[in-house]
Amino acid sequence: MIVILKPNIDSDSREFRRLESHVRNLQNIEMRVHKVTGAEQVLTEIYLIGNTAALSLDEMKSFPGVDHVVRISEEYRVLGRHKDDHRPNNFTYNGVNFSQDNLNIFAGLCAVDSPASVEAMMKALQEHGQVCTRMGAYKPRTSAYSFQGHGKNCLQYVFELAGKYGIKVISMEVTHESHVDEINEALAETGTPTGVMLQIGTRNTQNFELLKIVGRQQEFPVLLKRGFGITLDESLHAAEYLASEGNQKVIFGLRGMKTNIGDPHRNIVDFAHIPVVKRLTRMPVCIDPSHSVGSRSRGGDKILDIMHITAQGVIAGANMILVDFHPDPSRALVDGPQALRMDELHPFLEDVRIVRAAFKQRLRLFNENTV
Ligand code: PEP
Ligand code: MN
Repeated sequence: MIVILKPNIDSDSREFRRLESHVRNLQNIEMRVHKVTGAEQVLTEIYLIGNTAALSLDEMKSFPGVDHVVRISEEYRVLGRHKDDHRPNNFTYNGVNFSQDNLNIFAGLCAVDSPASVEAMMKALQEHGQVCTRMGAYKPRTSAYSFQGHGKNCLQYVFELAGKYGIKVISMEVTHESHVDEINEALAETGTPTGVMLQIGTRNTQNFELLKIVGRQQEFPVLLKRGFGITLDESLHAAEYLASEGNQKVIFGLRGMKTNIGDPHRNIVDFAHIPVVKRLTRMPVCIDPSHSVGSRSRGGDKILDIMHITAQGVIAGANMILVDFHPDPSRALVDGPQALRMDELHPFLEDVRIVRAAFKQRLRLFNENTV
């Protein structure tokens, strides 16, 4: 059961203490308190865990300071959708809204290789009105001998260039607790010219200790990639690890599944799960067409597979796109074969615009005709 307090009633208030002392006297009920800080207000949510079947909704609702009460029916307690659950499906970070109802594009470098590449990328993004990007500094690689990113050595120039070109959010994978500290330090040293979305890669989806650490901090939102070899349910439970530690600013990323059935693509595309994740949870859903397809292949229609697959995700209601670009893919240190070129940024964005408009038309069609 979730008891949601009226806006700005917090754990120091009389209302909260009265409710707390009531709950403490209940048998076999544990209480966890979450603060959800929005742009205009702070919401306090009290999660009651244990034998809550015996609790009366009306009784809990009758306490002063209580806004509403939700009986949890599904397993994803914090991020899931439950009956009569009106908790939001969006959050704002550094001025950018992330929601199940909108779409943000994160085109950028799979891995930061040089200041020149970062600058070329960010300049092109600004020219195309983009305020988000992806920039990998810490790269988990299959081979221990491959380039693993410039790590903290590139953070300062990445953040400074982001500030220079008006980039508000950079998605950046972290594979260790120390990376979060390094990002924090570099942001502080550069005067916080931009924001960072911490990315948990598919190899770490079930790295529960990392999830707990990233879930405990509430400064940065988190993009959790689905595990490439586990069920959707297992990956959604992993997202719940983040939220249960306090961070509800979570985006769920689909990036293809590892199976030879996906050949000749790098992974089999799983974007059919976009509506499923949106139905089961309140998380905005990201798609990563680059790591799904893994190449610049195109067919007789001249459309790159990456663009076809992006369109498939957008037409199904994706809320975020993470896509690899590089000023010179042949010289990229990581994943050059799947990177789009700068002259492909305009057609990419235009294609997304067309398909997003079609998705909105579909929404109107089905919502107007629903009885
Ligand atoms: C990435 O986005 O750079 C990446 C490594 O993705 P994934 O974890 O999905 O392989
Ligand atoms: Mn990559």
